[in-house]
This record gives sequence, structure tokens and C-alpha cells, in this order.
Amino acid sequence: MTTSGGDSQTTFGDLGLKDGLLRALAAQGYEEPTPIQAAAIPVLRTGADVVGQAATGTGKTAAFALPILDGLSAPGSDRRPSALVLVPTRELALQVSQAFHAYGRDLGARLVAVYGGAPARHQIEALRRGVDVVVATPGRALDLMDRGALQVDAVRTVVLDEADEMLEMGFIDDIESILSRTPKDRQTVLFSATMPKRIAALAERHLRDPQRISVASTESVADEVPRVRQTSYVVTRSTKAAALGRILDAEDPKAAIVFCRTRGGVDELTDQLTAQGYQAEALHGGLTQEQRDRVMGRLRTGATEILVATDVAARGLDIDRLTHVVNYDLPVSPEAYVHRIGRVGRAGREGVAISLVEPRERRLLAAIEKLLRGRIPTAPMPTAADVRSIRLQRTREAVEDLLADDDARERLEAYREALEVLLEDHDLLDVSLAAFALGHEATQGAPDGDVEIDFATAAAPTRDSRRKGEGIQGAGPDKAGRAKKKKRLDEPTEWLFVSAGRGAGITPGDLVGALTGETDLKGRDIGAITVHEGYSLVEVPEKLARKAVKSLNRCSIKGHRVKVRLDRGR
Ligand code: AMP
Repeated sequence: MTTSGGDSQTTFGDLGLKDGLLRALAAQGYEEPTPIQAAAIPVLRTGADVVGQAATGTGKTAAFALPILDGLSAPGSDRRPSALVLVPTRELALQVSQAFHAYGRDLGARLVAVYGGAPARHQIEALRRGVDVVVATPGRALDLMDRGALQVDAVRTVVLDEADEMLEMGFIDDIESILSRTPKDRQTVLFSATMPKRIAALAERHLRDPQRISVASTESVADEVPRVRQTSYVVTRSTKAAALGRILDAEDPKAAIVFCRTRGGVDELTDQLTAQGYQAEALHGGLTQEQRDRVMGRLRTGATEILVATDVAARGLDIDRLTHVVNYDLPVSPEAYVHRIGRVGRAGREGVAISLVEPRERRLLAAIEKLLRGRIPTAPMPTAADVRSIRLQRTREAVEDLLADDDARERLEAYREALEVLLEDHDLLDVSLAAFALGHEATQGAPDGDVEIDFATAAAPTRDSRRKGEGIQGAGPDKAGRAKKKKRLDEPTEWLFVSAGRGAGITPGDLVGALTGETDLKGRDIGAITVHEGYSLVEVPEKLARKAVKSLNRCSIKGHRVKVRLDRGR
């Protein structure tokens, strides 16, 4: 079976999940299942094996976690785990176990996350105390199995999450070995954003008659996309609210709808925007019809300029005045993106769609681009200086419009006498400056501070990192970064993922040095470079990429042995 998206009207109640799970989902502020959840949960509840193609951001974790939790017959009774979830990284192990914890809080399910890079002792103790679900990186799982601390003979479900990533990280043999030691009649679930041959072969060998579930639509909707200027910004979760404020300042929307994934997200963001001085209101499934009508009324009259909403609450909403759609959280499916942005750009008017993309969500953005058959360009975050100059330009244009408007003559004349009084004691230019300042500040707000935030990588700006101009070439928020204009290569490109970044003291210069010194690449072959805390990305011509990966994997950069691979998420 191949499912292209689920039925968007399915509710969590329809999926037949236990009450304890439904309560936890409501507490999370989830209003309805995402397409992958609507498609996968019923199938997984039958016990069938599943191959799911879904990227991070689609809600795939809940898609496998909910049926596992729902199927625990007597949580807390057996000491041995009945489900084993294998994930590629420690970060994901923590994230997935937190999700299990949040969904399973009323069921008394016991969760343990085990991963490398941390002492095994605590993990072993936690396993000894008894556990229902283990979330593990493959290497550590195998290690603990060898030591007898992790028993897998009672495992009924094994999940391979982000299987393609685990393959990239060289875990495939470990996975084979783990699978061969779990009971033959287990349920096996494989999730992967892409389906390289080796993953398909793994599924072929270890899954029994798997049901295939995919939310990636094959049909393009390129023709249906209205006239909308689409832009994306890469921002970390911790800087998202500040990034949104900056973007709103630069865009100055007449009326905008900002999408969040959950009710809690809507409320929190509405509070943050209000605190920053925006006229923002929340719209979500928790409002009564009357409250909802009032909010809509205020948006129509312009008393509210920003509506913060979930997809469910915004369904069927039709507002002529809307100029901007902002995806504060990316939608959970590419189709939902098209629905969201369809709210602007109507009747031949131009609309703007802005997406904030967390670094981990680039694959979801790529899936959206595939559906649209077009690029959603990633722009550098506007700097505080950019916003200042955009605001000044707005005031300048307003003054020019007023001067050019013959009908406004009389309105201006009314101030002549007051002006003449001022001119008795002051210079004309000084008076103009003071008047401009008053007008500007009244309409555009007080001048902004000079605080720069590293939106794309770290949360807090440091003077030092700014001076060095690290961050992202062409996408860096600081002046130094922006001065180095992003280089465009005039041919198909690939991105190399290099397993070291700012944390290891790596700078863009080091990467250029390694690439030109250790591979056949010339300086002119190297496109954009982004240095993140724990890794770096380098854009190179497609035809040279594979060779560069080979050569670089044999060398070290600044004394660090690095792993290099193609970053196919782009
Ligand atoms: P994942 O793709 O599993 O990494 O999930 C991405 C994000 O979506 C996580 O922050 C989840 O909490 C959130 N999420 C998952 N399912 C839903 C849902 N049905 N409604 C709203 N948010 C969800």
C-alpha cells in the first residue's frame, strides 16, 4: 500500500488510541494527526511491518511511538523491553525518548535512552530497574547487549528511525547484528527520508511483507501555486521568536497569518509578539465560535495585524487583506504548505510567504520544493542595520508621496504658521530633521538597538565570532558575513557534510584550504560554506563531489580527523 498523505479530517480519536494517550496528545496541543500519523498508526496497530518515507518535521516520531505505547499490554511489569527504537545520534535518542515520555506519561510506561559518548553505568542501572521502551544508538545498543545489560529476547517491535542516516554513519552492520538477535516474529518498522539501495535491501531482508507509507506526493502542484514571493530563513529554535520579530520589522505586513504547529505554540508566540509590541492575536481550536469571530473581525478592520494560528483553526479562513503567510513552524506535509500559502496572492494580488526552517528540517523544505517543482530561496536574515535602513526608506517614501500629492496641499498648509514660528529661531534643515525624526519614530517605532544575533547557528552573539566573520557566508547575520557575498556556482552542485565545525575551531578558510590542498578542487569550484557548531557544509560542483568526499575522508583538518559525506538533505 502506498498512501499519499492521510485523510486530513482524521482525528486522533478516530485512530482508536487509548484515553491516556489522547489526553497526553491534547496536553501537547496537537489538534489532529499529521498525514504520516493518520496513514501509519492504523497500519502499525495491526502489527504489520512498515516502511515509511518521511523526513524530520512530519511528525514521524509520534507515528511510531503512539502505536507502540498503545500496544504495551502491561507497562511496568516485565523487566525486559518490548520495544527497541534505533536512532543515528545521541541527540535524536534524547529527542525520541522525550517524545515517548510526553505521550506515555499517563500509561506508566518506562523509557530508557542509551547512546554512546556517555558513561554506560547509569544506562545499565536504568535498564536493570526495568524498561518498556529502549531508544538507542546502534553501537551502544550492541555493546550493552554483549554485556548482558540490554536483553532483547522479549522485544516485539523494532523501529529503525532515520535509517538512511544510520547507513551514512556506518551503523548498518550493527543494525543487522541487532536485528538477528531479536525474536523472528517481531514487528519491524523502518523510517527513512530517502531510500538508498542498501536501505531497500535491508528492508527486503528483515521486514515481512512491509506496508509502504509515504507522505511525499509525486504529483506536482506547481500550477496551483498563486503569485507568491517565497523566502526561507534558516534559524535555530532558540532564536526563532527574535528572528520572526526582525522579519516582521523588515516586511511590515498589513495583515499576516503566522502558523504554529500546536495550541501551546500559538499561545506562547502570541504572548511573545505582544510583548514585543505587535498587534497579535491567537486563533486555535480552543476558542469558542464567538471568540473566533471577534478575532477575525479585528483582523478585517486592521485592529489586529498578526494572526497566530494552527492549521486546523485557519481552515476555511478567507481574508482579503492578508499580505503575508509566515510558517513559524514548517507545515507537517508539503501539501499543507501549499494550502497555507494559498491564503495570499489571490485575485492577482501579490503575496509573500516566509518560512522559518530549523537546520534539521532542511529535508522537509526540500520535499516542499519537490512538490512545488521550484526553489524556495534561502535568504540571509536581515540585520538590525538592514531593518533600520528599510524603515528609513519607508518614512522617506511617505514624505515624498505626501509632497507629490496635490490633494494633501491643504493638509500641509495647516502647519505653515507653526513652522514659521520655529524658523524664527532655527535653521530650516534642523527643523526638518526634528520633524522627520518625530514622524519616523511615531510610525516606525523607536530606533532599534544594535544587537546582532547569530540566528542560523548559536543562540548568543559574541563579539569575537562577529569580528571573525564566521557563521554563514552569504547567510550570516553580521556585517562581516554579509560583506562576503554568497558565491554562486554556475553548474549543478552538491553539498558536502564535514563532521567538524566551529566547536573544533574550524573556519571557512580551513575548509577552503583542505579542499584545495587535498582534492582536485580549485578555489573557484567552491561555493557557499556554512560553519555550524558541530559540523560544516560546503557547496561544490556535482561532478567533483564524490572525488572530494574520498580525498577529504583520508585527511584531517586543523588536526581533526573528519568524516565527510554528501549531504543529500539539500
Ligand atoms: P518529528 O517529525 O517527529 O520530528 O516531529 C516534528 C514536530 O512536530 C515535533 O515538535 C512534534 O512535537 C510535532 N508534532 C508531531 N505530531 C504533531 C501533531 N499531530 N500536531 C502538531 N504537532 C505535532
